[in-house]
Parts: sequence; C-alpha cells; structure tokens
Amino acid sequence: MSGDCIFCRIVRHESPADIEYEDDEVVAFKDIYPKAPVHMLIVPRRHIASLATATPADRETLGHCLLVARTLGERTGYAERGYRVSLNTGPEGGQVVYHIHLHFTAGRRAARA
Ligand code: 5GP
Ligand code: ZN
Repeated sequence: MSGDCIFCRIVRHESPADIEYEDDEVVAFKDIYPKAPVHMLIVPRRHIASLATATPADRETLGHCLLVARTLGERTGYAERGYRVSLNTGPEGGQVVYHIHLHFTAGRRAARA
C-alpha cells in the first residue's frame, strides 16, 4: 500500500523526526507525543500497513524490529530495569498510523494489558 505515509516520509528523511537509531531495515525515532519519559517508535523502512496484513515474507523484518528494541533497551540504560514494547493493531487496537511500528517505552512502571 501507500509508500507516502508519514512514517515512509520520516524513514526517507523527507519529514523531520528525532532519529535515535537507524540501519538498513529499520529506523527508530522519538514519538512526537511521548507517553513515558522514554518513548520511541521502531519502524521498518518498508511499508507494512499493520500486523493484521503482515505475511511470512515480513518475518525477518518484524524479528529485526524486536532486536532493535533490545538495542534501544541497552542504549537507553533500561535493559535491566525494563521497558515495554507494544504493537497497536487495527481500530480497536488503538492503531492510528497504518505503517507498522513498535512502541518502546521506559522510565515509568508500564501499564499492563
Ligand atoms: P499508534 O496509535 O498508531 O500505535 O501510534 C502512532 C504514534 O505515532 C502515536 O504515539 C503518535 O504520537 C505518533 N506520531 C504520529 N505522527 C507522528 C509524527 O509525525 N512524528 C512522530 N515522531 N510521531 C508521530
Ligand atoms: Zn509507510
């Protein structure tokens, strides 16, 4: 689907964001409306709309996103204390931006699902 969504523009550096990590497959940047002292979004460069439309072809990309969360845990100093990684999916799952992303939050006790 759309290669022209806001997160596609951010990963191509066409729209501004506070980028904290990037590699060939993934970009991580600060959430514009942080809900925790540390709140980053882990976004694959390739446009995948949602977990609900992901396919086995996305397996490596999605696995890599999780390992980037691990890297952010270490870089932010929260690896031991802990952090939360979440993935909102679909309208009733709270998804607003339809380019798949993990939320990485740390710095306060995480609300539990
Ligand atoms: P969702 O509800 O889709 O899981 O989360 C979307 C997240 O993206 C929200 O936490 C929102 O604050 C963040 N967001 C939306 N637009 C932008 C943007 O243009 N830049 C940044 N950095 N974050 C955004
Ligand atoms: Zn996109």
